[in-house]
Amino acid sequence: MTKISFEGRVAVVTGAGNGLGRTYALELARRGARVVVNDLGGSASGSGSSATAANLVVQDIRAAGGEAVANTDSVASRAGGAAIVQTALDTWGQIDILISNAGFLRNNRFEDLTDEQIDSILDVHLKSAFYVGQPAYRAMRARGYGRMLFTGSASAMFGHAWQANYAAGKGAMLGLSNVIALEGSAYGIQSNVILPTASSRLQGEMAPGFMEIPEFARSVQSADFSASEGRLMPEFNTPLALYLVSEACTATHGVYSSNSGRYARVGICAAEGWFAPAGIEPPSVEDIADHFGQIGELGAYSEPMTPYDEFTSVADVARKHGVLA
Ligand code: NAD
Repeated sequence: MTKISFEGRVAVVTGAGNGLGRTYALELARRGARVVVNDLGGSASGSGSSATAANLVVQDIRAAGGEAVANTDSVASRAGGAAIVQTALDTWGQIDILISNAGFLRNNRFEDLTDEQIDSILDVHLKSAFYVGQPAYRAMRARGYGRMLFTGSASAMFGHAWQANYAAGKGAMLGLSNVIALEGSAYGIQSNVILPTASSRLQGEMAPGFMEIPEFARSVQSADFSASEGRLMPEFNTPLALYLVSEACTATHGVYSSNSGRYARVGICAAEGWFAPAGIEPPSVEDIADHFGQIGELGAYSEPMTPYDEFTSVADVARKHGVLA
């Protein structure tokens, strides 16, 4: 098996002072990448700042013989995003890899979320992807190579009580990454989303209120099982994250789950569905009600890469159903 190397590559990892980002930065550097270790150094709920977290990771990388520089700008502002990417350009003249990973939690029941809880979470998880992603993309485009990895969450793809603000921001990574993958394909830029799962300090921000919901109580017991097996260590996510930002990886436009040592693609698909009879007469609400079982059935499905692909698969189904000649 060919060894995956990052020699000659420059990587920016945001939120690399703790948890998942720290393991990504350490392993990238161990495999030869020069790494910008970005971290604002605040708490798990996003308050305060300190250079300590980023500096310690840089120290660890250098002690192991690797190359890294610290950056303590916030990903949650246009100026911060520009400064993070500029650190890579000023230090090494290029950026090949962006792992957009920084974030924090401010959980609350949907009906009680405040503007502050909504805005701060969308800033750090969603707008940061533009603030850091755009200058990184421009520099990658100029050199004709780039790997972007955005951090989504199972909380968004599958849902998680008390995290409507977070799920909205994380869910948006899907659309953003899909578009970057399409636009970037002309310039050697690939983009994917990882849905990681790990014990980290963010667990301290998980209000126990969601345990009122029986499904959650059950799934939390399963998470305890994974934890007791040691499979929630952040390091279990690192191999997939690194593969996705490696030159060896040709996959783009994807979403990948990493959970307790199970690595799997997560798909967005459109089922075959029910087709309204041929002609220009729209169906009635009752027609929809009558066919709702078929509409909701996922049996056969396609996975469109674009809305245009979806038109193609719709046409295929229309032919199959005799609606289109
Ligand atoms: P963590 O708290 O250990 O690490 C996140 C880091 O981001 C922290 O070091 C923090 O200082 C930094 N950060 C926060 N706001 C920042 C800002 N404005 N600018 C720069 N840095 C900032 O948490 P983690 O569990 O390692 O989470 C990493 C990412 O993975 C987050 O985006 C999180 O939402 C996501 N995620 C985690 C899990 C999980 O199970 N741990 C699951 C799904 C998604």
